[in-house]
Amino acid sequence: MARLLVVEDDETIGAALVRTLTVHGHDVVRAPDAATALRAPDDGAFDLVLLDLGLPDADGLTVCRELRPVLPDAVIVMLTARDEEMDVVLGLESGADDYLVKPVRLAELHARVAAHLRRVEASRPGGPTRLGDLALDVASRQVTVAGRPVHLRPREYDLLARLAARPGVAVSRDVLIAQVWDEHWFGSTKTLDVHVAALRRRLEAAGGSRMPEIVTLRGHGYRLDAPQA
Ligand code: CA
Repeated sequence: MARLLVVEDDETIGAALVRTLTVHGHDVVRAPDAATALRAPDDGAFDLVLLDLGLPDADGLTVCRELRPVLPDAVIVMLTARDEEMDVVLGLESGADDYLVKPVRLAELHARVAAHLRRVEASRPGGPTRLGDLALDVASRQVTVAGRPVHLRPREYDLLARLAARPGVAVSRDVLIAQVWDEHWFGSTKTLDVHVAALRRRLEAAGGSRMPEIVTLRGHGYRLDAPQA
């Protein structure tokens, strides 16, 4: 899963972009203007930025130039209108990696974003996520507790991977259901709780003295807390 920044002032387009990228498993932050976009990296780096060139408070090209040194590893994809071809050249010179012409087809957007993220992922040193005694290797879908393999069912693994991607950050029930099941899932949301309960039992049974905790957030969702140091 990747962390994405969507800079788009148009409410309808912005919401559609966020929805598409969220259901494909990404953490998406939306910025409706340049000022919000430039502040967004204060809360953590992004893997990819979708940047509209026409923003209410600043030129998208300026935002691109200012974000580039702050997010040296991020892929920056500009969103341009059809008549802004000159801007594409300037955008690439300002540090953007790619561009999409509006109106953006959501399927194409997803495919393009996924391709960029695969390339970024492949160039990164691998290795499992570690939270105390728990280690989770996304590449191989293997989970170990204190070095011993733990067998999880596919949905349990997906849930754990989604929560472990950003420890300490609340994930809503809607997002978990959309990302672990799918966006068109109409079953009972009770299924989510049943799977979380099963996941907790399996992790508990695995032993381990320093384990992260799956915290229930009533009326919202879940959060995985790293063990106390
Ligand atoms: Ca705009």
